[in-house]
Amino acid sequence: MIDFRSDTVTQPTQAMRDAMHKASVGDDVYGDDPTVNRLEDQVAERFGFDRALFTSSGTQANLLALMAHCERGDEYICGQDAHNYKFEGGGAAVLGSIQPQPLSNQADGTIALADIKAAIKPDDIHFARTRLLSLENTIGGKVLPMEYLAQAQSLAFNHGLKIHLDGARVANAAVAQGVDISDITQHFDSVSICLSKGLRAPIGSILLGDERLIAKARRWRKMLGGGMRQAGILAAAAELAITTEVERLAEDHHNAQVLANELAALSEFDVDVPSVQTNMLFARVAEHLDVHQLATHLKQQGILISPGRTLRLVTHADISRADVATFIHQLKQYLSLHRG
Ligand SMILES: *Cc1c(COP(=O)(O)O)cnc(C)c1O
Repeated sequence: MIDFRSDTVTQPTQAMRDAMHKASVGDDVYGDDPTVNRLEDQVAERFGFDRALFTSSGTQANLLALMAHCERGDEYICGQDAHNYKFEGGGAAVLGSIQPQPLSNQADGTIALADIKAAIKPDDIHFARTRLLSLENTIGGKVLPMEYLAQAQSLAFNHGLKIHLDGARVANAAVAQGVDISDITQHFDSVSICLSKGLRAPIGSILLGDERLIAKARRWRKMLGGGMRQAGILAAAAELAITTEVERLAEDHHNAQVLANELAALSEFDVDVPSVQTNMLFARVAEHLDVHQLATHLKQQGILISPGRTLRLVTHADISRADVATFIHQLKQYLSLHRG
């Protein structure tokens, strides 16, 4: 199948399977897994943080960060479209008694600094305590500008807030800008990174932070059932994800560009080509097209999409240039039979 639904569908590489097969392992809850320890030390060092924590998912890494930064009755400011507000089941509220303060995302994915400033609550018994600003990069495939990161960091600092990055796809943001991942992560007190999306590990994310934050997060991780035993089996693949798969993301970005240009040339699809900056594109579909029927037709041709009035298409390692061409060909065939 040519699967455009998400980069989470990527299969682990042969090198990852080999590394998993050979990994030295121990009980990570005792701190005994040499492969997990090596991964955590390596990424902490590489990205300039005291410590790192290997987690089962990006959702878990974000939740641990929120619960480690905030206490019961605190709040975090985030984007209305933020994954850790909209797509994580309300975990911070349910499990952390932490209130989100969502604010509109601008067209470029940023949250206006003036909006953030206005949302920070004064020290008053009527209000939740504003503790944290949480940003996401990339967000909807868009890269936050570097100067914005510096501005958000100083705004947070000047108001006594910590600043977290949901960097599920921070590697895509770095590659798109030709900068190192650490050039982005240096602006944050904590960062979560998904290794199981475009970076192709089967399972796992990383949380970065200082000693105290990661110690708290480690405690919450155990309480939430995320203390894994011989987790080195997973960390072995995760290590290859972060060391060998980052540069390759440029191919995914290129394929997304090609796809965006092809779709934009079709009258049934509306794509804002300049906003396609990484491996994700959004295409508004003409009203007269039945997107469910289209998805069913494509599936019969070996192509998977998530049907919607706005289609989200994601490129990744298991979609080649030829696969993009096949998709466009099949789409044109379908349209020639269903022109309104
Ligand atoms: C996928 C994603 C997550 C969550 O990661 P999972 O491993 O799926 O739990 C968090 N934030 C963003 C921006 C994501 O895209």
